[in-house]
Amino acid sequence: MIEHYEALVIGAGPAGLTAGLYLMRAGIRAIVCEKVTPGGAPLNTGRIENYPGFPEGIPGRELMDRFAAQAKAFGLPIREFNEVQGVKHEDGVFIVKINEGEISADGLIIAIGSEPAKMGIPGETELTGRGVSYCATCDGMFFRGLDVAVVGGGDSALEEALALAHIVRKVYVVHRRDSLRAQKILQERAFNNPRIDFLWNSRPVEVLGTGAVEGLVVEDTITRVRSKVAVSGVFFYVGYKPDTALFAEYVERDASGYIITDDRCATRTPGLYAAGDVRKKALRQISTAVGDGAVAAVSLERYILEKKG
Ligand code: NAP
Repeated sequence: MIEHYEALVIGAGPAGLTAGLYLMRAGIRAIVCEKVTPGGAPLNTGRIENYPGFPEGIPGRELMDRFAAQAKAFGLPIREFNEVQGVKHEDGVFIVKINEGEISADGLIIAIGSEPAKMGIPGETELTGRGVSYCATCDGMFFRGLDVAVVGGGDSALEEALALAHIVRKVYVVHRRDSLRAQKILQERAFNNPRIDFLWNSRPVEVLGTGAVEGLVVEDTITRVRSKVAVSGVFFYVGYKPDTALFAEYVERDASGYIITDDRCATRTPGLYAAGDVRKKALRQISTAVGDGAVAAVSLERYILEKKG
């Protein structure tokens, strides 16, 4: 027998947990499936300073523990360690295959976020977990007193470079242009931090090392001259990529794979919504993910009520 719910939310990050909270408060029988544990991308952020309501900032994990606790307090079941492996839409019902079997639902909210993008350079895959990392919050402590490189010029790169600067001896921020796209406040802090140096117009071409990272080869984007930066760790923050292939049959996606919705977070399939970073949108933040989660939940609630007649 397949378990049936009125609403299934895929992903327990800020968008998914908000959607779950709103659905439960609306009296909808909802469930959230999460491929690991609740929290999503903010679990990788040491301290969050731009989510309103926390004037001193709050560790990403603590904020997300609060999100999960609030949703659970309203009875939301969260099925952890259950990755979605397939989705079918038949006779107006979604059938979703997860690790532990199948769940059917009248409506679905896709809130799976996005995965750190890979650079695709030699040494990156081979040395992942041996000095190459995509999460300074998780792995920074392994590099206490050592030199590391952070690749990228966005909010993630600078936030994590600043966090690493408390632990390591030197952080080299390797950026392919001569200006950053990160928020100005992060730029100012990084420029003023004596442990952070910038390698401008520099593109990483190879991670060096056998068994452990020994350095990063960077190419000057103007002169094409290559040089070696001696580091023990390389943290890549070159953006994110949504893993939406599973839903391709039922949604429109942009060239990068982000799901296109209307302003009610609705996709082209009735009853199917997308919320948070997985959605094509102008700004990916916890605050905007929360907004999406609320909008998607209320849209789905109305869809379910109309379906019931
Ligand atoms: P991002 O904004 O997409 O920035 C990615 C960075 O990597 C850019 O500087 C980009 O360079 C560089 N890059 C991309 N592909 C590259 C390549 N192949 N080789 C070398 N460099 C490459 O990604 P993000 O920093 O992870 O942020 C993702 C989203 O989350 C953003 O919307 C961001 O605002 C948000 N975020 C917010 C916060 C916060 O508010 N506290 C924290 C983290 C993330 P170019 O600049 O030249 O394109």
